[in-house]
Amino acid sequence: MANLTIQPKTLSSSQGGETLPIVLRDDAGFDEAVWGRVFNCRRDKTRVPRAVIRASTAAHVRDAVEFARREGCRVSVRSGGHSWAAWSVRQDAVLIDLEGLKGGSSGDGLGGVSYDDASKIVSCPPSVIGRDLNGFLKEKGRMFAGGHCPDVGLGGFLLQGGMGWNCKNWGWACESIIGIDVVTAEAKEIHCSMAENSDLFWAARGAGPGFPGVVTRFYLLTRPLPEMYNCIYVYPDSEFRTVLQWVVDTCPTADPDTEIVCVARRAPDGNGCHIIAGYTTFQPDKAHAEKALQSVHDSRPLNAIKEVFCEPTSLHQEYTSQEEANPQSHRYCSENSYVANDADVPAVLEKAFTTLPSQKAFALYYAMNPTSRRQGPDMALSMQSDHYFALYTVWEDAADDARCTAWVHDIMRDVERHSVGSYLGDADFQHRRTRFWSQEAGSRLAGIRRKWDPDGRICGYLDAEDKSGVDGLKNEFEWKAT
Ligand SMILES: Cc1cc2nc3c(=O)[nH]c(=O)nc-3n(C[C@H](O)[C@H](O)[C@H](O)COP(=O)(O)OP(=O)(O)OC[C@H]3O[C@@H](n4cnc5c(N)ncnc54)[C@H](O)[C@@H]3O)c2cc1C
Repeated sequence: MANLTIQPKTLSSSQGGETLPIVLRDDAGFDEAVWGRVFNCRRDKTRVPRAVIRASTAAHVRDAVEFARREGCRVSVRSGGHSWAAWSVRQDAVLIDLEGLKGGSSGDGLGGVSYDDASKIVSCPPSVIGRDLNGFLKEKGRMFAGGHCPDVGLGGFLLQGGMGWNCKNWGWACESIIGIDVVTAEAKEIHCSMAENSDLFWAARGAGPGFPGVVTRFYLLTRPLPEMYNCIYVYPDSEFRTVLQWVVDTCPTADPDTEIVCVARRAPDGNGCHIIAGYTTFQPDKAHAEKALQSVHDSRPLNAIKEVFCEPTSLHQEYTSQEEANPQSHRYCSENSYVANDADVPAVLEKAFTTLPSQKAFALYYAMNPTSRRQGPDMALSMQSDHYFALYTVWEDAADDARCTAWVHDIMRDVERHSVGSYLGDADFQHRRTRFWSQEAGSRLAGIRRKWDPDGRICGYLDAEDKSGVDGLKNEFEWKAT
């Protein structure tokens, strides 16, 4: 292991003389500290951090960054551990694990979380997960439109933009951030908002893992908690083009509180795929829900294998379904594209939706129109189209790694020719170069990263061989550059 220039066990915080909770390479439990909270079981064990610091206070985070500065090594960050490519695990970096920030001070019922009834703002550490936050807010009649999967961390999710509940209509989750507390690459604790350190605040809404600092707290606007109802229509894959075209056509004029997806899953008997159109509406009561869903129901294609009209559901129930679709202890490969607005979407996505390589894999069409058509706030997040497409390839046996990942890369090679770019959250930059921001936002973000972290202290984007450093991602299509 690399020589340490100080004795970390005796490293003390400059406030209060606490010992910094650090696990070194030779310590018992190091592998668990590195990988124990990583969701994806397909892991690159050649990446070995120098140490893991389990921060439970902002002062720990500051001291951890200071420690890395003295060591001359990089810092990586983990909130919920759900980045598909385990962006928090980096060669020879000091990994700051923020799970312990949840154990902190105040909050009624959820560690480190507090809610202000007057402003409706919730303040929480980045390691808080969507299900826990919404469990906490439910008592107050509020919700936060966080990630669909219950255990995604707010940190990674919000920094990359956050495709939360009803993103199609309510906009990106990061639009609800009104402030953040940050430890900078120079180990300073600062607050960022529209009024303070506004360039860093701009970057926090869309830089993703290239954010040049460590967020220790988010301040988020909540929204009223509505009732939820589902319409679900299941078809054989022979109907794929008709069904997806119908879904696409319903999007622009659908009720403004209804989220729309089209998913492909393998049929339970493994014989072909099922195409599932799902409409989840957020309404004050059932009468409003029926009204919101009726026109969709009336226009549905014939020949459904199964139909559900306006069935009550809840965040709790939806989280359970998401958990079943994204099981723990599995191997994953995820990729995505924003398909161009003028593309023939069913033709572009047909192969992806009808040739899934494993029983648990699924392909997703997630409608973004009208969010994609409006002038959003000024923030780093600047890439979108009406049509979000993602692959979530799920399997159990390492022997299937090559086959399943090759399928994903093969599909993406074709789809990206019809795309305008991709979302950071479901991407793996080690394997694919594409566009994640508008040209203007990409250049501005690069400048902000250079200003706040000129030495590349914070690891940033994990591209092939982890080389991108301060320069960051190229923000260009692989196929256009060659
Ligand atoms: C099962 C599953 C379901 C998902 N569903 C959705 C969804 O519905 N919508 C959606 O938009 N995305 C979704 N995602 C993608 C997910 O949002 C991203 O993978 C996100 O990066 C996960 O955040 P995390 O904090 O859990 O991950 P981590 O692996 O802990 O964090 C990812 C990276 O983000 C950066 N980061 C995290 N926290 C901080 C911080 N506090 N300060 C500075 N940098 C930080 C670091 O570079 C870190 O390595 C899903 C992922 C999975 C695995």
